[in-house]
Formats: sequence, structure tokens, C-alpha cells
Amino acid sequence: MTIHNFSAGPAMLPAAVLKKAQAELLDWQGRGVSVMEVSHRSPEYVAMAEEAEQNLRDLMAIPDNYAVLFMHGGGRNHFSAVPQNIASADATVDYVTTGSWSQIAFDEAKKYVGKVNLAASAEDTAQGKAIPQFENWQLSEGAAYLHYCPNETVDGIALHEIPDSKAPLVADMSSVILAEPLDVSKFGVIYAGAQKNIGPSGFSVVIIRKDLLETRQNRVCTVMNYQVQDAERSMYNTPNTWAWYLSGEVFKWLKAEGGVAAMGERNHAKARLLYECIDNNPFYQNQVHPRNRSIMNVPFQLAKPELDATFLKEAAEEGLVALKGHRFVGGMRASMYNAMPYEGTQALVDFMTRFAQRNR
Ligand code: PMP
Repeated sequence: MTIHNFSAGPAMLPAAVLKKAQAELLDWQGRGVSVMEVSHRSPEYVAMAEEAEQNLRDLMAIPDNYAVLFMHGGGRNHFSAVPQNIASADATVDYVTTGSWSQIAFDEAKKYVGKVNLAASAEDTAQGKAIPQFENWQLSEGAAYLHYCPNETVDGIALHEIPDSKAPLVADMSSVILAEPLDVSKFGVIYAGAQKNIGPSGFSVVIIRKDLLETRQNRVCTVMNYQVQDAERSMYNTPNTWAWYLSGEVFKWLKAEGGVAAMGERNHAKARLLYECIDNNPFYQNQVHPRNRSIMNVPFQLAKPELDATFLKEAAEEGLVALKGHRFVGGMRASMYNAMPYEGTQALVDFMTRFAQRNR
């Protein structure tokens, strides 16, 4: 039976990448050892690491005035690293809270920065949860940065337009990086935990405009110091060598698949298919305003929540796994990152249609 894994993260990885990693596990590049057993300073490892960075730069068309860092920790590490690195202790910073993750980032920033201003929050409207229009955000004059989360993994809420911010724009792209083409030059900092569209958990990518690298607080944990990690090519201390390798393999796979343009088309097609199923069937409901619906994470509720457990059990019997909603919101959630094929979403929609018919 084919398994379609809708996990929100750690999420499914492309099968081709896993097979290659398996084949290379005991013998990487003909050396008779795995990639985990060589020095990160060895020429062969450094060459692999640099190729991974170059491939990410190519995929995202990252301009030369941006540094790319491969760092420890996942997304959350940057909730504290960003304020420490980008703002002085007495600065004012702006945050937009659109769901669970940006709320946590907002709360974390208060530990490090003088004034953390809440510029806007997602709100309930007649058509579902929505992000206020940019012109209604309460932005601070002279803010060190504006932080937001373009795709809220738990809530399935997305901002599809890039805010036209005067302050450097900082984006938590953990669950949407590489999902579709993006104009990196509009951002000051992009960060992402790896475990959705990149590779294994505990690893992260930071894309930072070089003029923002100057450290503004003198007590930043050195491992999380963007300036130090840039100067040391992300090897101030031993990086997660396995995660870097596997992420590099995902980048190669992405290039071979046609890059982010092809991913964007496929991701939008998958999302369209699933939202159509939900909207056309009164048995299912999604509570996000159509303009703010995520293409990666689709939460939905059954008209009969007492059938949640049955839905999950019968879905799993057909190989459709990890559909349980986040514990904060309940119901169901289908996460469909780059590695999820269109057929996976098609199989889910087929199952949902049959399940609704049986249980009307
Ligand atoms: N930000 C977002 C948008 C996320 O989805 C997640 C993880 N699901 C995180 C941050 C936290 O990532 P980590 O657990 O790797 O710290």
C-alpha cells in the first residue's frame, strides 16, 4: 500500500532523496564511511556544503548581498536569535501575530528588546479568520524590523502578499520556504526550520541581507550569532553534518523537479483540489478567509466531530496518515509540502468524498 504522509513536520521527504541517502549510508563518495563520519572541515565535506548553499541560492535566486547560514536549532531558535541579532536592547520592533507561531515569536522577543509592538493580529470575520489589510497595520516609526509568519502551520493562515515595509522585513518561512517563487530582495531576514520543505529537524536556514549582520547586542549566544556564523561559513562549531547533507540532496531533487516555479504550480494545484472538496461538501469546513488560506497546511473540521476518530482510522487504512489536527485547534489538518505528490492529495480527496457520502 502506498503511504501518503500528511504530517505537518517533521514531514515527508522525497522518496528519491531517502533512497539515495540509504544507498550512500555506508559508503559516501566511495570513501567507505558515511557522511556523518567525516570531518566538517575536510575538503570533501566543505565541497558538499558549498554546493548545497549554491543550489539553495540558485533555487531561490538569492541576491549576492545576502548571506546564507545553515544553523542549529529549528525555527524557534530564531525567535530569540532575531531580536538579539537585529535589534539593540532599547529598540522598538513590530510584530504581526496571525497564528500560533508568530504569537510565540512575539512573546519571545519581549525578553530581548525594549518595545515589542503588536502591529496587527488575525481576526474573525464573517468569511473566516483573516489577516487585516496592510494599510491597517499599526507600524512603529523607526522600528528595527517588522516580523511576520507568511504561513502559519497550525492555523493554516497565510499572507500571500509581501508587506511593503519600510523597516527590514523578517519572515518565519519554516513551513513555506521553497514552496513557490519568492522575491528575496524584499526581505531583511528569512529564516526557516528545515523539517518541512528542506530536510531533518533541528536544523535551520537563515537568509540575511548583509548590512543587517552587524551584531547589535553584545550578549548574543555565540552559536546563534549571525555575524559569527557568517564569518565562519556556518561552521563556528560543528554543524549538523547529516542534516546539511540531506538538505543538499533535497535541493538537488528540487532543481531536477523544475525548481520553485514547478513546485508552486503543483502546490497551488494540490491546494485547489483539497479546498474545492471542502467547499463543495457541507460535511467539511475550513475556517480561514479565502484570501488567507494556506497552500501548505489545510485544517478542516468534520460536520460530525464525533466521527473524527473514525475518519482518522479509516483514512489510515487507506494509507492516508498524520491527518490529525494540531492539539491547539483539533479537527483535521492536511500538510502538503513539496514532497507530497498530486496523487497524494487526489487520494485524500477521493477518500473524503466517500467518507462524507457514507456518513451524511
Ligand atoms: N515556526 C513555524 C512556522 C513552524 O511551523 C514551526 C514548527 N512547526 C516552528 C516555527 C518551530 O520550529 P522548531 O520546532 O524547529 O523550533
